Amino acid sequence: MVMATQQSVYYCEQCRKTTLHLEKKTDHLLHLLLSVVTAGVWIPVWVLIGMGTSDPRCTVCGRKAKYRTFRGYRRA
Ligand SMILES: [Zn+2]
Repeated sequence: MVMATQQSVYYCEQCRKTTLHLEKKTDHLLHLLLSVVTAGVWIPVWVLIGMGTSDPRCTVCGRKAKYRTFRGYRRA
């Protein structure tokens, strides 16, 4: 499993300001390759990994950010 960690700036509700957040990025290109190699067997694993690793976490208080304010995208 190859996952890169990315640093992004989001608004933290706990700190009440924009703080640096750590975000695990899924390497979709690698998963696409694995899906092809395994004839689609890897696809459910890809979906599970993609769902579980997308929450940015505040580096100041450790809280998970609910909203991705700076991308204009609100997570359900
Ligand atoms: Zn915070």
